[in-house]
Amino acid sequence: MKEKVLVTRALPQEALLPLYEECEVEINPADCPLSQQDLITALRGKKGLLCTVSDDINAEVIAKAPHLQVISNYGVGYNNINIEEASSRGIVVTNTPDVLTETTADLTWALLLTIARRLHEGERLLRAGKWKGWSPLFLLGQEVTGARLGIIGFGRIGRAVARRAHAFQMNVSVYTRTPLTAEIEEEYGVESVSLDALLQTSDFITLHAPLTEETFHMIGRKQLQQMRSTSYLINTSRGPLLDEEALAISLQRGEIAGAALDVYEDEPNVTKSLLQLENVVLAPHLGSATRTARERMAQLAVANLRTVLRGERPRYPVNDV
Ligand code: NAP
Repeated sequence: MKEKVLVTRALPQEALLPLYEECEVEINPADCPLSQQDLITALRGKKGLLCTVSDDINAEVIAKAPHLQVISNYGVGYNNINIEEASSRGIVVTNTPDVLTETTADLTWALLLTIARRLHEGERLLRAGKWKGWSPLFLLGQEVTGARLGIIGFGRIGRAVARRAHAFQMNVSVYTRTPLTAEIEEEYGVESVSLDALLQTSDFITLHAPLTEETFHMIGRKQLQQMRSTSYLINTSRGPLLDEEALAISLQRGEIAGAALDVYEDEPNVTKSLLQLENVVLAPHLGSATRTARERMAQLAVANLRTVLRGERPRYPVNDV
C-alpha cells in the first residue's frame, strides 16, 4: 500500500511526479496556507508532510499527527517548524539548502542596488507622470562601488553575497556566530569584526543569519542607532531578525539612509509606517523566486521526503533522530 503524504501548497508539477509514483498524495489546491485546524485534519493518517515557510508546524500540529515520520520543508529556513517537538517524536525534519543560495544572493543585490540608486522612487515618479527630464541634482543616490559592506551571518548565502561584492570592489566586513578561520577570510576576501564595529563602519549591512531565539530582533533600536546616517540595511533572511517598528523610527528620523526588505515580522502584514516611507524598498518575500530555484527546491524536498519514507537517511536532515 502507498504511504499517505500531504503537500501543503501547489509546487512545480514536474518535480512532484516521482512522489505520485510511490505515495498517495494530497495537495492543498488553494494558493494560500491551510488554517491550523485544516492542517491538522489534512494530516490525519499521513506519514509524510511537505510544507513551506508559510505553514506553522507547531507543537500542537505535530502532536496531532501521530503517524508522521518526516517533515520535508520546502526552503532552507525551518523556523516555521517546532524542531524540538518533531525530534521528541522521532520525526525527521529536512530542508532544501544550496539550490536557492545564488538566487537569494542575487535578490539581495537587486535590493541593495535599488535602495542605493533610488530606482523604486524613480519608477514611482515616472509612472505618476512627475518626471520632468534629466537634471543634475535629480534622485541622487549612494555610490556602491568601493563602499563597505557588512554581512551578518556568513553561511551559504552570506558567502554568495560576499563573492558578488568583489565585483563592486567593496570592502567586506563579516559578523557571524562561529569565528571564521584565516583561510575562509582569505578565500572570500573578508574581515571578521564585532557586531558593534560592523554596525558603526558599514555603508551597507545585509542580514543572512537564520531566525533563532538568539537572532530574534538582533537588529533593534540600539543597533540601528549605532549605524551611520548614510548607511543602508538589507534583509533577505527572516523578518523577525529586525525590529520593524524600530526600523520605521530610524528611517523617519533619518538615523539611517534607507532599508530594503524581502521578509517581514508578520507576513504578509507589513508595519504600516514603513509603507508610507520613500527610503525603503519592500519586496514580497521573493528571495528564492526564480523558476529554476523553485523547481530545484521542489525536487529536493520530494527527494528528502521519499528517502525518509524508504527508511534511508535524507541528504539534508536538520535534526538528529
Ligand atoms: P546557513 O548556511 O545556515 O548560514 C547561516 C549563517 O548564519 C551561518 O554562518 C551561521 O553561523 C550564522 N548564524 C547563526 N546564528 C547566528 C547569530 N546568532 N549571529 C550571527 N550569525 C549567526 O544558511 P543560508 O543557506 O545562508 O540561509 C540563511 C537564511 O536565509 C535562512 O535561514 C533563511 O531564513 C533565509 N532565506 C531567506 C530566503 C528568502 O526568500 N528571502 C531564501 C533563502 C534563505 P554558524 O556557522 O555558527 O551556524
